Amino acid sequence: MPKITNLNSIEVLDSRGTPTIRTFMTLDDKYTGIATVPSGASTGKYEAAEIRDGDENNFHGKSINKCLDIIDKIVKPSVLNLDFQSLEEFDELLLSLDNTKNKSNLGGNTILSLSMSYCKALAKSQNLELYEFFDPSTQNYNSPVPLMNILNGGKHASLSSDFQEYMIMPIGFETYAEAINCCVKIYWTLKSFLSSKGNSTSVGDEGGFVSPYDDNEEPLKLIVKCIEKSGYIPGDEVMIGLDVAASELFEKNKYKVRILKSKNEFISKDELLEFYINLTKNYPILSIEDPFDQDDWEYWNKINKELGNRVQIVGDDLLVTSLSKIKKSIDEQSCNTVLIKPNQIGTITETLSAIDLAHSNNMNTIISHRSGDTEDSFIADLAVGTKSTQIKSGAPSRSERTSKYNRISEIQMLDKNIKYIGEKSIIL
Ligand code: PEP
Ligand code: MG
Repeated sequence: MPKITNLNSIEVLDSRGTPTIRTFMTLDDKYTGIATVPSGASTGKYEAAEIRDGDENNFHGKSINKCLDIIDKIVKPSVLNLDFQSLEEFDELLLSLDNTKNKSNLGGNTILSLSMSYCKALAKSQNLELYEFFDPSTQNYNSPVPLMNILNGGKHASLSSDFQEYMIMPIGFETYAEAINCCVKIYWTLKSFLSSKGNSTSVGDEGGFVSPYDDNEEPLKLIVKCIEKSGYIPGDEVMIGLDVAASELFEKNKYKVRILKSKNEFISKDELLEFYINLTKNYPILSIEDPFDQDDWEYWNKINKELGNRVQIVGDDLLVTSLSKIKKSIDEQSCNTVLIKPNQIGTITETLSAIDLAHSNNMNTIISHRSGDTEDSFIADLAVGTKSTQIKSGAPSRSERTSKYNRISEIQMLDKNIKYIGEKSIIL
């Protein structure tokens, strides 16, 4: 294996204007891997720790000079001119340098920038496309179904729905290009519709439109109408996905979710469960992410029992891409789909193990961006390379979102045998 001959990191900005780390890792065969880490807003409390400077005068405390120092003073002397046999060996060294459960010594953000950049450098050095690097023996890659976020709410937008994300899932198409075309048509129809009603067409952190709603069902009616108006069949060609991000709505054992039936601002767990059951009866909903709080395992089990045979119940904050949490969810039958975010866990090796564990237990995986993201399209290759059947990368607007969807188009060009997974992406 080639030796690491140079390692440099700089501070750059993510899509919210928040500083993040970009790392350049060069090997002695002169290949350089460059990686930039994303950052969440509705972060799960069990995610790997992010290190920031905390100096209010510098980017309101968000600058990452401490991370750059860690890379320079701790990591660089430990990896430079060393010969690692694999990505796993490199990541293991990072874990041993950190030596904490939640990556708080080096920072999950620092570790991910190193792990991703080493991974990219190795792929180049082995003359592989990044997606091929994850499993070079694989022949039959697929392009994943995009879960396109078209309406933003929750922590990603003010004055909008309580639910964080309303997404469309174009499953009924033969090709990835047709699926993307469908999403964009619906997105544009929605824009025209909102503006014809005198509503704002400004967008939230992930590129979905932001408008005020009286309750969380109203956006669903609107989306169904826009799917039809765009010439598609809701419930057949196009399904709907939700990310409730319920951990952000949980207070004093209740959920702050506006439903028309209730005059109360907060509803009980049972009312929320009933709300979901009714929504799935009345709308073509195929996926619900984080329907309950990250510690509310009892209600995760209840919803999975009620809906898990026909709806994806997706663990994001619940599972934080962690092997032990995924194992618990398998034992307790808490959900049937795992959201994968590399920066929740820190290293690419652990991310790949989380995906393997999910797949070997018949759970689906959705590879996901973060609400603060960058032009780095790493997760597009990760989705194709690990045969994850879905990717969530926001709206078909804003370059940090489209860079992932566009990279999948590029991968389709590189390997003409890649087929769009479409309906087969759902394994319920
Ligand atoms: C999410 O909750 O799935 C998400 C992408 O948002 P964030 O990055 O803010 O956690
Ligand atoms: Mg989520």
